[in-house]
Amino acid sequence: MKKFLQAVIIFLALQTVSFSQSPVIEEIINKTNIDSLKYFVRELSGDVQTVIGGSPYTIVSRHKNQTGNNMAANYIKQKLQSYGLPAYDQNFSSTGRNVYAVQLGTVYPNKKYIICAHYDDMPSGTTAPGADDNASGTAAVIEAARIFTQYNSKYTIIYALWDEEEQGLIGSAYYALQAFNAGDSIMGVINLDMIAWDSNSDNKAEIHTRPIANSIALKDLMMQINSLYGIGLTLYTINPGATYSDHASFWNRNYGAILLIEYDSDFNAYYHTTNDKVQYFNLPYFLKMSKVSFGIVATLADLTQIIPVEMLAFTASVKNSDVQLLWSTASELNNMGFEIERSIDNQDNFVTVGFVDGKGTSTEINYYSFTDQPQVSGVNQIYYRLKQIDFDGTFTYTDVVNISYDVPAEFVLNQNYPNPFNPSTIINYFVPQESFVSIKVYDFLGREVITLVNEMKSIGGYEIMFDASQLPSGTYFYNMIADNYSDTKKMILIK
Ligand SMILES: [Zn+2]
Repeated sequence: MKKFLQAVIIFLALQTVSFSQSPVIEEIINKTNIDSLKYFVRELSGDVQTVIGGSPYTIVSRHKNQTGNNMAANYIKQKLQSYGLPAYDQNFSSTGRNVYAVQLGTVYPNKKYIICAHYDDMPSGTTAPGADDNASGTAAVIEAARIFTQYNSKYTIIYALWDEEEQGLIGSAYYALQAFNAGDSIMGVINLDMIAWDSNSDNKAEIHTRPIANSIALKDLMMQINSLYGIGLTLYTINPGATYSDHASFWNRNYGAILLIEYDSDFNAYYHTTNDKVQYFNLPYFLKMSKVSFGIVATLADLTQIIPVEMLAFTASVKNSDVQLLWSTASELNNMGFEIERSIDNQDNFVTVGFVDGKGTSTEINYYSFTDQPQVSGVNQIYYRLKQIDFDGTFTYTDVVNISYDVPAEFVLNQNYPNPFNPSTIINYFVPQESFVSIKVYDFLGREVITLVNEMKSIGGYEIMFDASQLPSGTYFYNMIADNYSDTKKMILIK
């Protein structure tokens, strides 16, 4: 009888498979890291000191009335921001504060999937580690953000951590109401609450669902993910599911939502006590529960690979004595920026001449420019390359571009233009080495009319405008003096 039933279940499961195995989803599931998950829990449950806002802090309680509650929210926010996500506070009362971050969808930015957990805890005293309830779910949401931000998401993903669940789903109810009033298109909610307790290692867990919006389909998909990727949980459907956690806030607004939670017949023995500690976790189980959650969200949001910093073009050109470098990227992943390196007359002596900030992670085309002043004169071959540096310090070099850099070795004073002129004209000159430069204008009788330049100038070409609107028509002279150089040219003002 039992075997027969199993055969029927397998048959039904095959009928409803709508997603086939994907290498990207497999890779994401494999990136789920138990050390990372465990460490987030240790920080959130006071098992280890952390750093919040630059100062050391130990979160000994996340109960809504304890200082640690707000500090935990700060911790969560800074964690989400550290993955390059914009993170927001949603205050709903003097003590209530949800924290959420947004990974914008590249194709469907207005359609949202939510992966969430409550971060507040019990009991109400000064000590409340709340490791399983619910640092476990909170840590999984943070770990999801750590991994998913390494990918493109076609749909928007909201990483949400609710406050005051323990007082009756207050934070999530507020969020769901705001979303409902704003007409948000929430495509599905995955709520994680107590996902690390399995005292007999039977890998059993429950998915709570109800026939509301696509909640049943979400449950089906989570079951498929578990089998498709060999995650190894034994999942039970609870329908109609319980309403004691934050997914119910979304059901109340007719949004599809499911809860993943440990097996009710093997419930956490230290629930809501000062003994709810990470040391009692079943870590392999915690990892599996996280993996199945990440698998479903990554599948639904349709995560795809980002090509890390794909260069489109890199060019160099000379204007006067400046070299202008232009480049662009088709996409970027964790790009801190570009160091600009230059080598003169060979490719053996690259030195860093500047830095341009990158865009972090981006799937749009980004354009960059940098202007270099090589401070050399005469004829040179100049080589440039870019050193693209990731936030984690890894780097790659672009191809080398080179230009013929031909600037005079001597001072030059050019003929003004236009000439004759009325009432203003342009005078160009070139300085081959750092020098004190003086340029003055004289009238036909040799009387000084105006000083145009009288200061130190570094190597380069310069342009000045001479405005003669206050002067009468006639012939004028302009004279440049620098080091041992002196030259005079004639210009004619005709009004
Ligand atoms: Zn809970």
